Amino acid sequence: MIAFGYRDARLHADELPLERLAEAVGTPFYCTSLSAVERTYGAIVEAFQGLDVSVCYALKANSNLAVLRSLAKLGAGADVVSEGELRLALAAGIPAERIVFAGVGKTERELAFALDSGIAQINVESFPELALLDRVAQARGRTAPVALRINPDVDARTHEKISTGKAENKFGIEIDRAAEAARLAHSLPGIALKGLAVHIGSQLTELQPFRSAFERMAELFRALKAEGLPLSELDLGGGLGIPYQDEAPPHLGDYADMIREVCGGLGARLQIEPGRAMVGNAGLLVSRVIYVKEGAARRFLIIDAAMNDLIRPPLYDAWHDVMPLREPPPGAPLAPVDIVGPICETGDTLARQRPLPPLEAGDLLAICSTGAYVSVMASSYNSRPLAPEVVVRGGDWAVVRPRQSFEELIGRDRLPDWLEESGASDRQRAVEGVA
Ligand SMILES: *Cc1c(COP(=O)(O)O)cnc(C)c1O
Repeated sequence: MIAFGYRDARLHADELPLERLAEAVGTPFYCTSLSAVERTYGAIVEAFQGLDVSVCYALKANSNLAVLRSLAKLGAGADVVSEGELRLALAAGIPAERIVFAGVGKTERELAFALDSGIAQINVESFPELALLDRVAQARGRTAPVALRINPDVDARTHEKISTGKAENKFGIEIDRAAEAARLAHSLPGIALKGLAVHIGSQLTELQPFRSAFERMAELFRALKAEGLPLSELDLGGGLGIPYQDEAPPHLGDYADMIREVCGGLGARLQIEPGRAMVGNAGLLVSRVIYVKEGAARRFLIIDAAMNDLIRPPLYDAWHDVMPLREPPPGAPLAPVDIVGPICETGDTLARQRPLPPLEAGDLLAICSTGAYVSVMASSYNSRPLAPEVVVRGGDWAVVRPRQSFEELIGRDRLPDWLEESGASDRQRAVEGVA
């Protein structure tokens, strides 16, 4: 991981010992290095130098406002998949003209909000969406800037739950009907057809599936342009993997070179939408051991983080490295442990059979590579308050999302007054209203 390492036998985030942050904010907490995010953004921009590419960060990986603001300041655009994300991107200062809206199920309200916000592009994923968007745009006296998301029927060779580019997946317009969709889009008065888009999945660890998909898109782009359709944008999506364990995902430079080779001659403005690759290794989750439990068959470290804070292991069988905050001395004996949370499900296992040095109740550890698809997927299952988020940059740090309080947790709910003995019943009032 780029931002985290031992110094003086203590795990640091940038220049800060994580132990110190744990004392200050309590555990569990998420820690993101903004300097790591910014370095990665810089490396992506540099890898694509000479190509007309806009980098639209996929918010769904990590939509914390501080992360978004640091990217906005560097000039990044955004890829959003809901009205909430669109509002967050705008609130973070990402200009509307750098925002792309993707997703299979945009509602009428979301499309209207996107049009009113004046965003750069709406990626349409189906014929019914195209029809609805045309109607919504016309009703508002606008034309919607549209790219058609195409499903190229390419196997991304990643986990099935995050594979999006096969014919049987719900995403995109099937490539065999792409020309039909493009002609239709061009004919609709509420639609300004701008380009094509593709995104075949996440955590890709090989270049070849990208290449296959981009070659199909390049061929389609050329054919449709030759037909006279006014295409100027080609959105290549995200999906670049990161090392969690021993994966060797494509190097940024090789990914960019392949894109240059396949798409460089199209005369298209390119877009890429990295999410995980931008933030995944810029964050970790710090937790404290509550108990060390010697089970009949295994030793368990029961920690104060759980599947509500980190759903990826149960959801995707994901691997996250685990590091004690105190560096084990050289030659420390290692013994396998299962690292589990307090939640009442066996699925609440965050790591299995990890060789770790002896840890005791009260010791701190870091679960690594939790910058992407972790805090954004957190819940308060088991009525566990949402964990706080801390960002660091160099020697600076801040709590950018405080720990949820019990008042906030309980205060989300309302009691119907007909459950309260003194209050007049809603049901009674409704009946009286009818009578
Ligand atoms: C999720 C998503 C991304 C980002 O994917 P990563 O694997 O995080 O890079 C990009 N584009 C679209 C359309 C997405 O749905």
